[in-house]
Amino acid sequence: MINWLASGSLLNIAEYRFSSRLGGVSAVPFDELNLANWVGDDPAKVKANKELLAQSTGLQLHFMEPEHGTVVQDVTGDEVMLKKADLLVTTKKLVALVAPSADCVSLVATSAKKPFLLLAHIGWRGAAAGIAQKILTTASIYGINSTDLNLILGPAICGHCYPVSKEVQLAVTENLPAAELNKKGHSGVDLRVGLTDFFIKSGVTVTNSLPCTFETEALYSYRREGRTGRQAVIAWLT
Ligand SMILES: [Zn+2]
Repeated sequence: MINWLASGSLLNIAEYRFSSRLGGVSAVPFDELNLANWVGDDPAKVKANKELLAQSTGLQLHFMEPEHGTVVQDVTGDEVMLKKADLLVTTKKLVALVAPSADCVSLVATSAKKPFLLLAHIGWRGAAAGIAQKILTTASIYGINSTDLNLILGPAICGHCYPVSKEVQLAVTENLPAAELNKKGHSGVDLRVGLTDFFIKSGVTVTNSLPCTFETEALYSYRREGRTGRQAVIAWLT
């Protein structure tokens, strides 16, 4: 049985569910509900986990395979392959999008203006490449202003658990200044703090309440474990 970290509705037009690592069939160190097939897990186990996810919603799932850039793909629901992208968008009801992550930020955005659902996977490389700005420009291509956007950020590594080089910190904070976190001997970035600040200043409604992956045993953390699986967010327009 899948043990959701969080689930709910955005603006009463989209449903979202964040998975934890609990409730799947993968063996150590990918235990249990690993949803990524590029981390070295047994492909049959990943397939079974994805089927558990699909059964829990009754929908066909469209999985993102992150590129760590700003690649956008529109999903109509007719395709079934993996989407090599960092942003998935659909305007179709009941087309379920899935974005995996472990420490990186997953994000679900929608709008009450018209049917629109966007999922993103954001690590430091995507942040440095301007993915936050790309989310707003992508929304505007679909006729949605930033002030009409409502988004939720998934679990991700916090700045205290995420020391990075000064170069990486600078690359991120150029786009997301509030992501900077410095302590004695520690230059870190907190992507969710940076993203929250960026989006709120753009007029977006933001929810950022889910835990740090590094500090939460029930979640996969790449920084904590190295060889490990990926949780995911799944969302669809209702
Ligand atoms: Zn932390």
